[in-house]
Amino acid sequence: MLKFYYLLTITMMMTLSSCDQNKKKDQSSGENPLLEKFTTTYQVPPFESITTENYMPAFIDAMALHNAEIEAIINQTEPPTFENTLADMAYSGELLRSVSSVFSGQMSANTNVEIQKIAEEISPLLSEHADNISLNPKLFARVKAVYENREHDSLSGEQAYLLENVYRDFVRSGANLDSEQQQKLIEINKKLSMMALKFEQHVLDENNAFQLVIDNKDDLAGLPESVIGMAAQTADEAGMTGKWMFTVHKPSMVPFLQYAQNRDLREKLYKAYLNRGNNNDKLDNKKLFSDIINLRIQKAHLLGYPNYAAYVLEERMAKNPENVLNLLNQVWDSTLVVARREATQMQQIIDDEGDDFKLQSWDWWYYAEKLRKQNYNLDDSELRPYFKLENVRDGAFMVINKLYGITFKPISNIPLPHPDAQAYEVNDQDGSALGVMYMDFFPRESKQGGAWQGEYRVHQVLPDGEEIHPVVTVVYNFTRPSASMPSLINFDEVETLFHELGHALDGLFAKNTYPVTFIPTDFVELPSQILEHWATEREVLKMYAVHYETGAPIPDELIDKINNSRYFNTGFNNMEFLAASLLDMSYHVLSDTGAIDINQFELNYFSQLGLLEQIEPRYHSTYFTHIVGGYEAGYYSYLWSAVLDHDAYEAFRENGLFDKTTATSFRKNILEKSGTSDHEQLYRDFRGKNPSVEPLLKNRGLK
Ligand SMILES: [Zn+2]
Repeated sequence: MLKFYYLLTITMMMTLSSCDQNKKKDQSSGENPLLEKFTTTYQVPPFESITTENYMPAFIDAMALHNAEIEAIINQTEPPTFENTLADMAYSGELLRSVSSVFSGQMSANTNVEIQKIAEEISPLLSEHADNISLNPKLFARVKAVYENREHDSLSGEQAYLLENVYRDFVRSGANLDSEQQQKLIEINKKLSMMALKFEQHVLDENNAFQLVIDNKDDLAGLPESVIGMAAQTADEAGMTGKWMFTVHKPSMVPFLQYAQNRDLREKLYKAYLNRGNNNDKLDNKKLFSDIINLRIQKAHLLGYPNYAAYVLEERMAKNPENVLNLLNQVWDSTLVVARREATQMQQIIDDEGDDFKLQSWDWWYYAEKLRKQNYNLDDSELRPYFKLENVRDGAFMVINKLYGITFKPISNIPLPHPDAQAYEVNDQDGSALGVMYMDFFPRESKQGGAWQGEYRVHQVLPDGEEIHPVVTVVYNFTRPSASMPSLINFDEVETLFHELGHALDGLFAKNTYPVTFIPTDFVELPSQILEHWATEREVLKMYAVHYETGAPIPDELIDKINNSRYFNTGFNNMEFLAASLLDMSYHVLSDTGAIDINQFELNYFSQLGLLEQIEPRYHSTYFTHIVGGYEAGYYSYLWSAVLDHDAYEAFRENGLFDKTTATSFRKNILEKSGTSDHEQLYRDFRGKNPSVEPLLKNRGLK
């Protein structure tokens, strides 16, 4: 199961030049808790004394201070060195980092109308603030001088990595181009961001454009009562009381595809879903998509890259398109075998039931559901009693303690980001401090959906040698307890709980000197996804998954069902993902500009690939919003991280689930150093070899 990782937007704020906004002076300076040194326990933000009115003036003051810090770097007479330029840049903007992280935390987990308004007001100012630095020629000249001298300076590994990344960020923003080319780049970026907005708006409108309205009860045959009830409510809200309505939103569409016996209606609904943005009307995205791809090719060429994928992947662990394609093709071959087998099993059911048709894509969910019942019947309500939230949380703490010896001690009397949150002091095995962690479990109106980890303060070592400990937060949306019932979570939520704690460990164990780090997006899920593996181990489940009433450990047959269920529909899940990832890459390795006939392009590409006709890619081009809005040439990243976590976990399988040497090596090489060194090398330092795709194939039932 893929999860999202929301990095709280502690924007990389290294900027210069005074913009007009800085002249607006804060009237209440001096009484603004965001601008004072935090004197709370553990120096956490004084959440309870911060008011909405404090944010805007704090942002303005913090940006002005940051600008002054950058001015000082530029205006010094000393020749540029790592210390007086790169290090000073990295430490600069600390106040802005602090204000931004408190604000982001509130915006995601405790928002209101005023906070949203401030966000709208501040985000263009922050992006202008960041833009001003990346196009500042004087600052770049200093960075470039240090970069060109790097062979002669004796830099530490962390310093060399920081320098390389900062320099590259400047270059990638166009700092090395002449002013005419820079102007061209700014134009392209502007066009691209407007086109992306338009594309996404079309998809949003398409999602709401189609309605499958049912007025004949017979057409509901096969659907569970709860699904029918929801469809009745959807119709009611649309003013069609007494009818039933399904839409192309997944929570509405998927149950219909899974259960509806009416094959024609399944086809109608699924085709509407597949054709979003492809109906030759005002919401059509084909030309827009082709234009976006072409602008990206132009941008890549302007910056000196053969294609857009090469530009994007340079910063990733994968490094180049060949490495990505190599991985995707390798998993593709194994997946094809399994997906074909699943299709054959489904065709068998169709034939056995006496029907005379060939399995199609709109049939897949329906027959997969039959296969699931037959082979993997895992009932949520059977499992939940064994997953009382507090038991799962303490189980995860126990796993972490057995691996690393660290402890989580509840703290009271500390400011909380929300009254629902819990605070923990995290200490190393020798009792020394690692940091503070907040946990915030339950949904509320002011909180965004999903689960994420964020940071209120990042680790760093100040120039005077003082070590600053991180303050992290993990936020979830689990079932609330009631007066008569504790919070009993489902298995997906169990994995999510472990997942976010894995991100938290990455933050808590960090040993970086500078508060600015660079973690590639195809690496970032390794620390989180690896922790999920322990959650499903039999010996671990026996320790924490005990019945909330009787205290009895979870029975072996339920553990078997949990472990088997990962093989369900695995050919389909992997194939639809791979097809979308490969499609993403196929556009971004194009090196010649020219209008693209999107439908023809897809048709050719998928037939050459050998995609089964019964399986559609998870996204078609006309609604593939990920690769329009920031994840372009990046959809493969989920798989890349997954290869790493399966291979890394294999080390624990080989040496013992709680083997101290393996755990220490994972901590020292991966968790302490992520973001400060070449990640391919870090991985090899831990594993002694390059990652292998074999453990992933095995664990996903592809081999
Ligand atoms: Zn994550």
